[in-house]
Amino acid sequence: MVREFTCIMCPLGCDLRAEIIPGANEEEILVTGNTCKKGKEYAMQELTDPQRNIATSVLVEGGELPLASVRLTHAIPKNRIFDVMGEIRKQKLTAPVKAGQVVIENVLGLKSNVIVTKSVGRG
Ligand code: SF4
Repeated sequence: MVREFTCIMCPLGCDLRAEIIPGANEEEILVTGNTCKKGKEYAMQELTDPQRNIATSVLVEGGELPLASVRLTHAIPKNRIFDVMGEIRKQKLTAPVKAGQVVIENVLGLKSNVIVTKSVGRG
């Protein structure tokens, strides 16, 4: 199996090619196209345990803006994105909201917090 990715670990954006080569005892993953070892690590992670961050927004009551932008402090397994989005959608904050404020601690036990990224003052 061959998978192709664009490395997102730095702005260079190397085109990576990862090939799973079946072996007698275990599979070997051959990564090419990477300029540095971070690219290989990224491709291996994408193949074995893809992780993603979320950037979205949460409703704010009584604020100068109706929404506050939020993100996760750590990437989570890609297959949990929809579950976490569901938890974020349930949230409603009350102004004022401060950047860095924790909205959900350890969301769904995934060792990542949902935090505010932009302050919203009272309206
Ligand atoms: S492989 Fe290295 S140089 Fe290329 S995009 Fe990834 S981190 Fe940057």
